[in-house]
Amino acid sequence: MEQLLKINQLTIDQEKYEQIDHNVLWLAKILEELQDHTDPEGDVSHPSETSFLEAKLKLLKKKSNALKDHLIIRGTVNTSYHTQCVRCLAPARETLKVDFSACFLHHSFKQQEEYHDITDIFCDGELMELYFYNKNAVDLYEYIHEQIFLNVNQRPLHNTDCKGLCPICGFNLNLGKCIHARK
Ligand SMILES: [Zn+2]
Ligand SMILES: [Zn+2]
Repeated sequence: MEQLLKINQLTIDQEKYEQIDHNVLWLAKILEELQDHTDPEGDVSHPSETSFLEAKLKLLKKKSNALKDHLIIRGTVNTSYHTQCVRCLAPARETLKVDFSACFLHHSFKQQEEYHDITDIFCDGELMELYFYNKNAVDLYEYIHEQIFLNVNQRPLHNTDCKGLCPICGFNLNLGKCIHARK
Protein backbone atom coordinates (compact mmCIF):
# COMPACT_ATOMS: atom_id res chain seq x y z
CA MET A 1 0.00 0.00 0.00
CA GLU A 2 1.35 3.36 -1.04
CA GLN A 3 2.16 6.10 1.43
CA LEU A 4 0.08 8.54 -0.61
CA LEU A 5 -3.53 7.45 -0.73
CA LYS A 6 -5.14 8.89 -3.85
CA ILE A 7 -8.65 10.05 -3.13
CA ASN A 8 -9.75 9.80 -6.75
CA GLN A 9 -8.87 6.09 -6.88
CA LEU A 10 -11.45 5.24 -4.24
CA THR A 11 -15.09 4.54 -4.98
CA ILE A 12 -17.68 6.60 -3.16
CA ASP A 13 -19.50 4.75 -0.35
CA GLN A 14 -17.44 1.63 -0.86
CA GLU A 15 -15.51 0.72 2.27
CA LYS A 16 -12.02 -0.57 1.70
CA TYR A 17 -10.14 -2.64 4.25
CA GLU A 18 -6.37 -2.69 4.40
CA GLN A 19 -4.09 -4.61 6.70
CA ILE A 20 -0.44 -3.69 6.43
CA ASP A 21 2.71 -4.15 8.48
CA HIS A 22 6.36 -3.14 8.64
CA ASN A 23 7.13 -4.95 5.40
CA VAL A 24 5.68 -1.82 3.85
CA LEU A 25 8.52 0.69 3.61
CA TRP A 26 6.83 3.69 5.18
CA LEU A 27 5.69 1.64 8.18
CA ALA A 28 9.21 0.21 8.49
CA LYS A 29 10.42 3.81 8.72
CA ILE A 30 8.08 4.46 11.65
CA LEU A 31 9.16 1.27 13.42
CA GLU A 32 12.77 2.28 12.90
CA GLU A 33 12.07 5.67 14.42
CA LEU A 34 10.32 4.08 17.41
CA GLN A 35 13.39 1.97 18.02
CA ASP A 36 15.39 5.12 17.53
CA HIS A 37 19.09 4.46 17.69
CA THR A 38 18.79 2.62 20.93
CA ASP A 39 17.94 -0.85 19.66
CA PRO A 40 20.11 -3.08 21.83
CA GLU A 41 19.98 -5.83 19.24
CA GLY A 42 21.75 -3.72 16.71
CA ASP A 43 20.59 -3.09 13.21
CA VAL A 44 17.26 -1.29 13.40
CA SER A 45 16.83 -1.20 9.65
CA HIS A 46 16.07 -4.92 9.87
CA PRO A 47 13.69 -5.13 12.81
CA SER A 48 14.11 -8.44 14.57
CA GLU A 49 11.26 -10.90 14.53
CA THR A 50 9.91 -9.80 17.86
CA SER A 51 9.46 -6.18 16.82
CA PHE A 52 6.51 -5.37 14.66
CA LEU A 53 4.19 -2.63 13.56
CA GLU A 54 0.88 -3.38 11.96
CA ALA A 55 -2.00 -1.19 10.91
CA LYS A 56 -5.57 -2.10 10.14
CA LEU A 57 -7.34 0.58 8.17
CA LYS A 58 -10.91 1.04 7.02
CA LEU A 59 -11.15 3.63 4.29
CA LEU A 60 -14.40 5.17 3.21
CA LYS A 61 -14.78 7.92 0.67
CA LYS A 62 -17.98 9.93 0.93
CA LYS A 63 -19.42 12.81 -1.00
CA SER A 64 -21.93 15.35 0.22
CA ASN A 65 -22.96 18.86 -0.72
CA ALA A 66 -21.61 20.24 2.51
CA LEU A 67 -18.31 18.37 2.69
CA LYS A 68 -17.69 17.50 -1.00
CA ASP A 69 -15.33 14.51 -1.48
CA HIS A 70 -14.07 13.48 1.92
CA LEU A 71 -12.25 10.47 3.26
CA ILE A 72 -12.93 8.68 6.50
CA ILE A 73 -10.16 6.61 8.00
CA ARG A 74 -10.84 4.35 10.94
CA GLY A 75 -8.21 2.03 12.25
CA THR A 76 -5.89 0.52 14.79
CA VAL A 77 -2.14 0.39 15.00
CA ASN A 78 -0.37 -2.27 17.03
CA THR A 79 3.33 -2.20 17.67
CA SER A 80 5.95 -3.82 19.85
CA TYR A 81 9.48 -2.47 19.72
CA HIS A 82 12.84 -2.36 21.43
CA THR A 83 13.88 0.71 23.28
CA GLN A 84 15.99 1.67 26.26
CA CYS A 85 15.09 2.16 29.91
CA VAL A 86 15.28 5.91 30.64
CA ARG A 87 16.66 5.28 34.11
CA CYS A 88 19.32 2.60 33.67
CA LEU A 89 19.68 2.36 29.87
CA ALA A 90 18.99 -1.39 29.87
CA PRO A 91 17.06 -2.82 26.91
CA ALA A 92 13.32 -2.36 27.32
CA ARG A 93 10.33 -3.43 25.32
CA GLU A 94 7.31 -1.28 24.65
CA THR A 95 3.98 -2.27 23.19
CA LEU A 96 1.42 0.20 22.00
CA LYS A 97 -2.08 0.04 20.57
CA VAL A 98 -3.70 3.13 19.13
CA ASP A 99 -7.25 3.42 17.82
CA PHE A 100 -8.13 6.35 15.64
CA SER A 101 -10.77 7.80 13.39
CA ALA A 102 -10.47 10.85 11.22
CA CYS A 103 -12.23 12.69 8.47
CA PHE A 104 -10.14 14.31 5.76
CA LEU A 105 -11.64 17.25 3.90
CA HIS A 106 -10.20 18.96 0.86
CA HIS A 107 -7.66 21.62 1.88
CA SER A 108 -9.83 24.41 0.44
CA PHE A 109 -12.09 23.96 3.50
CA LYS A 110 -9.20 25.15 5.64
CA GLN A 111 -9.71 28.65 4.23
CA GLN A 112 -13.31 28.74 5.41
CA GLU A 113 -13.86 30.53 8.67
CA GLU A 114 -16.03 27.86 10.23
CA TYR A 115 -13.17 25.35 9.97
CA HIS A 116 -10.50 27.59 11.44
CA ASP A 117 -10.79 26.65 15.06
CA ILE A 118 -12.24 23.17 15.08
CA THR A 119 -10.32 19.92 15.44
CA ASP A 120 -13.27 17.52 15.39
CA ILE A 121 -16.10 16.98 12.98
CA PHE A 122 -19.29 14.94 13.10
CA CYS A 123 -19.13 12.62 10.15
CA ASP A 124 -20.61 9.21 9.21
CA GLY A 125 -22.39 8.91 12.55
CA GLU A 126 -19.57 9.80 14.92
CA LEU A 127 -17.35 12.59 16.10
CA MET A 128 -13.91 12.23 14.58
CA GLU A 129 -10.72 14.18 14.19
CA LEU A 130 -10.64 16.68 11.38
CA TYR A 131 -7.77 16.67 8.88
CA PHE A 132 -7.26 18.08 5.42
CA TYR A 133 -5.80 16.55 2.30
CA ASN A 134 -3.76 18.28 -0.38
CA LYS A 135 -3.50 17.52 -4.07
CA ASN A 136 -6.12 14.76 -3.91
CA ALA A 137 -4.04 12.53 -1.67
CA VAL A 138 -3.80 11.70 2.01
CA ASP A 139 -0.30 11.15 3.31
CA LEU A 140 -0.78 8.00 5.36
CA TYR A 141 2.77 8.06 6.67
CA GLU A 142 2.28 11.54 8.12
CA TYR A 143 -1.09 10.70 9.63
CA ILE A 144 -0.15 7.35 11.19
CA HIS A 145 3.20 8.69 12.36
CA GLU A 146 1.32 11.41 14.24
CA GLN A 147 -1.17 8.97 15.77
CA ILE A 148 1.66 6.80 17.08
CA PHE A 149 3.97 9.52 18.36
CA LEU A 150 1.17 11.32 20.19
CA ASN A 151 0.76 8.14 22.22
CA VAL A 152 4.30 6.89 22.60
CA ASN A 153 5.59 6.34 26.12
CA GLN A 154 8.29 8.97 26.53
CA ARG A 155 9.70 7.36 29.64
CA PRO A 156 10.02 3.62 29.04
CA LEU A 157 11.31 1.51 31.93
CA HIS A 158 12.89 -1.95 31.68
CA ASN A 159 11.05 -2.76 34.91
CA THR A 160 8.54 -0.59 36.80
CA ASP A 161 10.74 -0.49 39.89
CA CYS A 162 14.00 0.22 38.14
CA LYS A 163 16.33 1.98 40.59
CA GLY A 164 18.32 3.73 37.89
CA LEU A 165 21.95 4.78 37.88
CA CYS A 166 23.77 6.68 40.60
CA PRO A 167 23.86 10.32 39.45
CA ILE A 168 27.39 10.68 40.80
CA CYS A 169 29.27 7.56 39.71
CA GLY A 170 26.85 5.97 37.25
CA PHE A 171 26.71 2.67 39.14
CA ASN A 172 23.68 0.59 38.21
CA LEU A 173 21.65 0.62 41.42
CA ASN A 174 19.65 -2.41 40.31
CA LEU A 175 22.81 -4.40 40.96
CA GLY A 176 23.44 -3.14 44.49
CA LYS A 177 24.61 0.03 46.23
CA CYS A 178 27.53 2.28 45.53
CA ILE A 179 29.25 4.44 48.16
CA HIS A 180 26.89 7.33 47.32
CA ALA A 181 23.73 5.45 48.24
CA ARG A 182 22.07 6.95 51.31
CA LYS A 183 21.60 5.02 54.55
ZN1 LIG B 1 15.98 0.36 34.07
ZN1 LIG C 1 27.54 6.32 43.19
